[in-house]
Order: sequence, then structure tokens, then C-alpha cells
Amino acid sequence: MVAGPCSAESREQMESVCVALARMPQVSMVRCGVWKPRTRPGGFEGCGESALQWVADIRQQVKSVRNECGGERMLYCCEVARTEHVEQAVRYGMDAVWLGARTTANPFMVQELTEALRGTGLLVLVKNAPSPDVRLWMGAIERCHRVGVRDVVAVHRGFDLFRNEGLRNSPLWEVPIELRRQMPEIPILCDPSHIAGRREPIAALSQTALDLGFEGLMIETHPSPERALTDCEQQLTPAQLAEMLSGLVVRSTDSVVADEELRLMREQIDQIDGEVLRLLAARSKVAERIARVKREGNLAVFQPKRWDAVLHDRMEQGQEQGLSEEFVKGIFERIHAESVRVQEETIGQHDVKEEQKK
Ligand code: PEP
Ligand code: MN
Repeated sequence: MVAGPCSAESREQMESVCVALARMPQVSMVRCGVWKPRTRPGGFEGCGESALQWVADIRQQVKSVRNECGGERMLYCCEVARTEHVEQAVRYGMDAVWLGARTTANPFMVQELTEALRGTGLLVLVKNAPSPDVRLWMGAIERCHRVGVRDVVAVHRGFDLFRNEGLRNSPLWEVPIELRRQMPEIPILCDPSHIAGRREPIAALSQTALDLGFEGLMIETHPSPERALTDCEQQLTPAQLAEMLSGLVVRSTDSVVADEELRLMREQIDQIDGEVLRLLAARSKVAERIARVKREGNLAVFQPKRWDAVLHDRMEQGQEQGLSEEFVKGIFERIHAESVRVQEETIGQHDVKEEQKK
């Protein structure tokens, strides 16, 4: 569990939040933004080196509180976006650093930073890039590995789409799930604060992350969020954080413990998936035949009116079957895109054969 303010703003603020977090056994690392990468200029851009000095100054006090509570040593991390930031983080004894979303998006910057991180012994947290491209995320992790940084943790902070449906960033859980599949050895934390952009959804997002087997959470925590200089809408007080954490349930994601009933239901799911795939293959074959007819009749592959009617009908049927509109729409958009692709390919192959005959 990583917690702490979006930005380190003053010695008092850092002392207050760190001492409160020291009393929470679940929290093992304090986060604080020291250099703030603002999307647009003109906002608060962090206190820089003075903030690192505040962290160094309060460590001893936090250590005593931690010892009284019997907790383990508290670790500290900040964001780095330039090589000088890495040098300063090392100089002031930080334990970890994170690469922010806008940094992960830029392989040149990641390359420079990882070279600066070589041999420092810092733990590196890598946030996903703002776009849902799992390869950028993996690329930044791989660049860490290449310079010998082995302690790397991924942080899922959601994706900046044009529309994010009530949240600041879209979680697109399938992206971190794909990262887990491709890099099973990398622990993944969820940052529900930046996904949510406000306090209310943080608990539910945290629970989803735990249910998906994420190893931990990074949550912005501020002694008085309403006065925060950055991200004031989404930060929790330490008391709110403690209450939220006490409501979370950690469930096993280890299928070895699955019982007999679960095994049987999984068999059912496997069979249903097989059927779904057979039906999709059959649908594709019909699409190939349709392509030939369309070519003969000189009809375009994409027929907007027909597509509109199909989508309408499938969404209505889906609703009758108790499926969510969004789910059915997403699936049929994907199926239709594939059908268009198959038809284009079929017509393309036919045209090539005709050319060869000539
Ligand atoms: C942050 O953690 O404060 C931050 C700037 O996040 P991100 O890089 O995910 O936008
Ligand atoms: Mn923030």
C-alpha cells in the first residue's frame, strides 16, 4: 500500500500526513510529488529539492511512531521525470521513484531516466502511459530491466480517453490484465485516485483491483484535501483512507483452492466458450459468401443502413436476455468490424485471382 499527497506542499503538511500514515500498518510506502508534470502550464509545479529535504527531516519522527506501533520501516517515493530528479532522489535518500504517465509515453525520456537509475538500487514504479498501449508500459519496464533495475512495479492509473464516463480516467481493466499475462512476474498496483478524479468511486475501484489480483494500491492522501494545491477533489484524509481500507476484502485469486462446485461451473464456461467460437467461425463463413454476392451485385461491403438495423436488433435482443447495452454494443461492433475485414479480404483475393487469369 502506497499513500501520500499528490504534491508535497510544506513541511507541516508532510509531517502531518506521514505521521498519520505511520500509524497504519497496511501502508508501507509514502508517495509525494516533488516535481509536478502539469498537462497545461500555469499551475503549481511542485516544491522540488526543498520537498526532498522535508522528507529527509521527518524520517526520524516517522520511524519512532512506526516503532511504537510495531510496523516495518516506512519507504518513500517521488516522481522523477528528468535525470537531475533521479540524482536528487538518490542524494536525499529516497527508496523508490515512479515514472509518471506522461513519461512512460516517451521512450526517449524513459531511456535517459533508466540510464540514470542504473546502479542506484532504487525501486522503480512505472505508471501506464495515458494511451491504452500496453507495449509502451511494457517497454518502460523492459528498459528498466535492461539497465539492471530488477525491482520494478507497474502502476495502473487509467487511460485518458476523450470521454471517460464519470471518471477522470477510464480503467480499461483489460490493459493491466494483458500486462499481467505478458509479464506475470511484475507486481501491479492500482492508483484509483487518478482513475476516479474524485473521492466517491475510490473504494469500489480499489475492490475491483483487489478482485483482479492486483498486489496493492497507491492512494492520494492529504491532511486537508480541500486545500490541496493539486488534485484536491480526489485526495482522502488519512482517516478516510483507514476507513476505506477496513472495508476492502482480499479474496484469493489462486485457482488451486477452487472447490468442486467451482470446477464444474468452469467446465460449463469452457463448453459455452467453445460454442461461442464455433458460432463465430460459422458466422465468418457466411460473411465470405455474402462478400461474393456483394461483388457480383457490385454492392459495397459496408452497408450503413443494414448495420444500423442489425445493431439495433441485437441490442434489443440483448436487453431481453438481461445483458448490458454497452456489452452487447461492444461485442457486435467488434463482430461487425471482423465481418467487414473478412469480406474485404475475400473480395481482395478474388480480384487477385482475376488479375492472374488476365
Ligand atoms: C501523480 O501520481 O501525482 C501523477 C501525476 O500521476 P500520473 O502520472 O498518473 O498522471
Ligand atoms: Mn495527483
